[in-house]
Amino acid sequence: MSSSKSPTPTSTDGADSLPEPLRGKRQLKLESTFCFDCQPKVDCFTNCCSDVNIVLTPLDVLSLARKAGLTTRQFLDQHTLTPITKDLHLPVVMLKMQATAEKRCPFVGDQGCTVYEARPWACRMYPVGMGLPPARAGVPPDPTYFLFEDAFCHGHREPRSWTVEAWQRDQGVTARDDLEIGFRDLVGHPWFIGGRQLDPKRIEMFFMVAYDLDTFREFLFTTTFVQRFDLEEKLVESLRNDDHALLRFGFRWLRFALFGEPTVQRRAASAEDMSP
Ligand code: SF4
Ligand code: SF4
Repeated sequence: MSSSKSPTPTSTDGADSLPEPLRGKRQLKLESTFCFDCQPKVDCFTNCCSDVNIVLTPLDVLSLARKAGLTTRQFLDQHTLTPITKDLHLPVVMLKMQATAEKRCPFVGDQGCTVYEARPWACRMYPVGMGLPPARAGVPPDPTYFLFEDAFCHGHREPRSWTVEAWQRDQGVTARDDLEIGFRDLVGHPWFIGGRQLDPKRIEMFFMVAYDLDTFREFLFTTTFVQRFDLEEKLVESLRNDDHALLRFGFRWLRFALFGEPTVQRRAASAEDMSP
């Protein structure tokens, strides 16, 4: 597929209080079927890659930065916006559309998406949206799926039938799921129950570790971090060279640093402040 109208994972509080983008949408289960196809011969091809709200996950930022040959910091500066709203307990990163009347995605070309292999989670999922129930301690969130049947999208007129599960597999969502779930587990962490807020220093740390992975790597290897924590040599080596290993470790570290979970152990001798 070529685009998305924000099928971003969205918190749901039950059918009566669904967020606006999900209201009135057909609800789906993993095994539910829907008709859809998106390919260059559809008459709406790439029309949807303009003026869209695409929230980027940490894996999206990383994949797009690598595809564009930019550091994560450069990618964040050039291609994203971080809207501030008082309802959000963590920063959100959005893909910045071009500053023209059409507001085209910077990655759309005549032949479709120029970053197809690195396209964001939301672009992969469309026309399926995901809703997540509010966090409950000890209960893994069970997503609900929704079908976006936007008038601008003619893919729904095509006869090809999918289950949600088959669609996610076909679009490469399933293959990336462990990193996406690692992130969703942070955002929907039970620590936030009751409206608890992180302090600005921890929010900054969350942003760096989750989205600015190159800066996080630099931090790990230019400070005493790896000496202060009990980390296997093999893991430390992978953190130097393997982006996905670093992101996976970042989520683990954030659970320790933000929520006090014992996901990382300090070395016994160290009494220093452990925060970055
Ligand atoms: S990233 Fe690709 S699929 Fe997504 S809006 Fe941009 S051009 Fe379209
Ligand atoms: S079928 Fe839908 S998703 Fe595909 S190009 Fe057309 S509008 Fe975009």
